[in-house]
Amino acid sequence: MRIDLHTHSDASDGTCAPSELIAIAAAADLDVIALTDHDTTAGWAEAGAALRPGMTLVPGAELSCVARNASGRRTSIHLLAYLFDPAEPRLAAERARLRDSRLHRAERIVERLAADRIGVTWEHVRLLAAGGTVGRPHIARALVESGFAESVDDAFGRYLYDGGPYHVPKLDLDAEAAVRAVRAAGGVPVFAHPRARRRGPVVDDDVIVTLAGAGLAGLEIDHLDHGPDDRLQLRAMAAELGLIVTGSSDFHGSNKTTPIGACLTAPEEYEALVAQATGPVKPLQG
Ligand code: AMP
Ligand code: ZN
Ligand code: FE
Ligand code: FE
Repeated sequence: MRIDLHTHSDASDGTCAPSELIAIAAAADLDVIALTDHDTTAGWAEAGAALRPGMTLVPGAELSCVARNASGRRTSIHLLAYLFDPAEPRLAAERARLRDSRLHRAERIVERLAADRIGVTWEHVRLLAAGGTVGRPHIARALVESGFAESVDDAFGRYLYDGGPYHVPKLDLDAEAAVRAVRAAGGVPVFAHPRARRRGPVVDDDVIVTLAGAGLAGLEIDHLDHGPDDRLQLRAMAAELGLIVTGSSDFHGSNKTTPIGACLTAPEEYEALVAQATGPVKPLQG
């Protein structure tokens, strides 16, 4: 079984429609794929309808959160939420709040760029986001298409990196509250790429311990942003805390170079994850 538990469609900052994503997953011989767009469930229906016989879709989302280290430093983190009830009102309201904040924040980034004569237009960014959750990758693409950067990566490196002159923070959920909210909606919360150091500061071990106490189900360990030492240390923590271990590509279409299926989740870990879902949403079969 080939299982990839973290991918993005153009319902957020991936470049493939949900149905195309399923076709790409089928071509890569994946048996199970999770759709985890940022702060939205908008792609679930289309992805489910596009499933081929024998394939399984795990509906999910990647929630923007913030955690505090013991030193008090705020760290942006991502929480993968699987198989939660999309109609559960509290979590649905939080997702809507996050998307709204992203929209205003992206507008302010474009204003700041324009003030320095880096002329991407808000219309262009909105067109690229096509009604989905707006993220910095959409601004990055607009910068590329307008000749201000060579690639999405280059646009991040020049302009959009965390803490840079054009970085505007967005609203994030408190990570511990988010873990509880996902459980309350029947879902299974997994800490996405906890040691993705390339993107900025990462959390201390005690944050993982606290989140496990709040109901965290697992750690996404096999991810291309994790080096071998971090993977070993995270595996030891997962064993100690009784957490599920997942692996994934975090596929974003042509917004990133990582191919779908780049890292995978072991079948027994996947089964353990599905067994923890308590709501009305189950994996969808093709
Ligand atoms: P946002 O959600 O708007 O804060 O943007 C963060 C997203 O941008 C992440 O989910 C990544 O997919 C993507 N990203 C972050 N850093 C880079 C980078 N250096 N190159 C390309 N994509 C990146
Ligand atoms: Zn993304
Ligand atoms: Fe992420
Ligand atoms: Fe992601």
